[in-house]
Amino acid sequence: MSGTAPFTVAIDGPAASGKGTISRRVAAHFGFAHLDTGLLYRAVGRKVLEGTEPVDAARGLRAEDLEAPGLRSAEVGQAASKVAAIPEVRGALTDFQVAFARRAGGAVLDGRDIGTVICPEAEVKLFVTASDEVRAHRRFLELKDGGADVTETGVLDDLRARDARDSARATAPLRPAEDAVTLDTTGMSIDEAVAAAIALVEAARL
Ligand code: C5P
Repeated sequence: MSGTAPFTVAIDGPAASGKGTISRRVAAHFGFAHLDTGLLYRAVGRKVLEGTEPVDAARGLRAEDLEAPGLRSAEVGQAASKVAAIPEVRGALTDFQVAFARRAGGAVLDGRDIGTVICPEAEVKLFVTASDEVRAHRRFLELKDGGADVTETGVLDDLRARDARDSARATAPLRPAEDAVTLDTTGMSIDEAVAAAIALVEAARL
């Protein structure tokens, strides 16, 4: 592969499946750029909680909005999942993601619709999953570490509500692309999951 050719790794999956960590580490390993597309929807959701109209929030999104405090909270996550069901919101965020995916030198994008809508031509497509209980446990530990006052049952309910909404929406629902490789991380350590993802990217680069 030439250093300037586009090379896209699309990593989709449900909430707290491990796709964010895998994406960051795969990008660092290969020297690719990384975009957490969930942050775009979270930044829009946050603005909507502050009173902005969803489509205006998406059209007016700026780089510094992606660094706003509180973007990772469960409340912002639910707001993100609601605005993400609005086709005009998704449309306003598409061009930036498509350009990022095909930038020179390689890119890893993680989200819900990268392999299906944003970059169907991606060289590597992964769908990362794990059981609901394992995902809830991981997210619970993360939130608790960050000082949040949460229960594991509360986190499980939150993830299930978000996944149900994300899977049921008409536009760009959460689902694996037909040619995606599914990586079930339920019984895997994060190092094992990252190694499996790196091996798939290596194989596609040959
Ligand atoms: O990935 P993360 O959990 O941060 O995403 C927050 C929400 O943003 C998701 O629940 C989903 O509704 C939405 N999202 C999306 N498409 C993406 C990335 C995120 O609809 N590509």
